[in-house]
Amino acid sequence: MRIRNTLSGKLEELKPTDPGIVKMYVCGPTVYGLIHVGNARPMIVFDALRRYLEYRGYRVIMVQNFTDIDDKIIVRANELGVTFKDVADSFISEYWRDATALGVRAPNFAPKTSDFVQQIISSIEKLIAKGYAYVVDGDVYFDVKSFPKYGELSHRSLDDMISGARVEVNEKKRNPLDFALWKSAKPKEPAWQSPWGLGRPGWHIECTIMSTELLGSTIDIHAGGEDLIFPHHENEKAQSEALTGKPFVKYWMHNGMIRFSGDKMSKSLGNIFLLRQAIKAFGADALKLFFLSKHYRSPIDFSQDAIMSTVKAAQRASETFNRFESKISVPPLAKSDEWLEEKRAAFCDSLDDDFNTPKAVALIFEMINDLNRAMDEANDDMAVKIYHLLRREFCPVLGLFEVPSWAAKNSIDEVLQILIGVRNELRSRKVYDLADEIRLKLRANGIELKDKPEGTDYTFTGEV
Ligand SMILES: [Zn+2]
Repeated sequence: MRIRNTLSGKLEELKPTDPGIVKMYVCGPTVYGLIHVGNARPMIVFDALRRYLEYRGYRVIMVQNFTDIDDKIIVRANELGVTFKDVADSFISEYWRDATALGVRAPNFAPKTSDFVQQIISSIEKLIAKGYAYVVDGDVYFDVKSFPKYGELSHRSLDDMISGARVEVNEKKRNPLDFALWKSAKPKEPAWQSPWGLGRPGWHIECTIMSTELLGSTIDIHAGGEDLIFPHHENEKAQSEALTGKPFVKYWMHNGMIRFSGDKMSKSLGNIFLLRQAIKAFGADALKLFFLSKHYRSPIDFSQDAIMSTVKAAQRASETFNRFESKISVPPLAKSDEWLEEKRAAFCDSLDDDFNTPKAVALIFEMINDLNRAMDEANDDMAVKIYHLLRREFCPVLGLFEVPSWAAKNSIDEVLQILIGVRNELRSRKVYDLADEIRLKLRANGIELKDKPEGTDYTFTGEV
């Protein structure tokens, strides 16, 4: 497989450090609110990449973090009169709810910044000792001039950046591009004890620490939106390599931005489109198709017309599968043949080419037409072959059409409401053992029921 590496700007052959294992880190959300539809792009694309790598026989170890120490979270917590952890944990639960509805698999590890503060502190101490960082009044800054490769990822030269940088009011820094590793405590902020006094970690250091702690000094793929290249990923790279003396990442992958009515979507704009609203309006499969129909590196316009045409395409695929399933019983596929191998090769060729999902999606829809034609012609053998390849291989590899059609009609929320109703009825009849069994079985599937005076609610814990 070849991947366009942001670092080199070139297509490079994927050769993981440990043959057969791909270690992958995706920068996750800052949990101060519900995620919007723009967040769904990296979720969908890199979930599909992980599935494809597994299809090709790799073992993938994937980490996606939650940033739970952040200005916006602190502001929100102070507004609500709760702790930063209350805010973060409730939006992490909402994140799992959205990810489940979208049909995106949970990563192997989903660490939170607040669980790594001690490791962050000891790494900052090492950076200071090695001469890459300096302390000013309880703050610690990374000295970009001490790291000659600074700017390598974003392809900028340090001198150009310095001359172009706005002169900040912050007189503590030696250089305007130096960035905070540790911030001294301000009133009404969560704070941890450190050698430099009470404070909290800066943003960039958390990904360095969670990645190196969980996956080792050098990982294979580090992914995220292209808006993270500078400064976030540039800073992650500088810190990690200064710390370990080894390359941090072999392949950097960045997805293009989503534009909404022509503007880049962000929570700071008024036109928020929450992911859960989009799932409810268009369906998870249509949303996935929408993003996978465009190459991950290209920008994408979230327009009504574009999304409605993928809604129709998703419907056509589901109707075709329903038609097959209602007519033909699915025998196990006996053995491979030339036709199957040809299609598999075409599918893999597309995805091996810098994860060209639009080409793979086009092949899937070509085959959906072929499946309809085979059924029209009562060519059951052909129909079975196409169905197998689509339903058992190509679609699941991209995370498409996994939810059976009956379940797609009833959202997971509706199903849970039915179960909650049954459990309440059992409890009112004092059949507590059965009521508890419902709770325990849901818990084992990552869903926690919470009984409150106003009724029973549920949260997605993601812990399965
Ligand atoms: Zn990050």
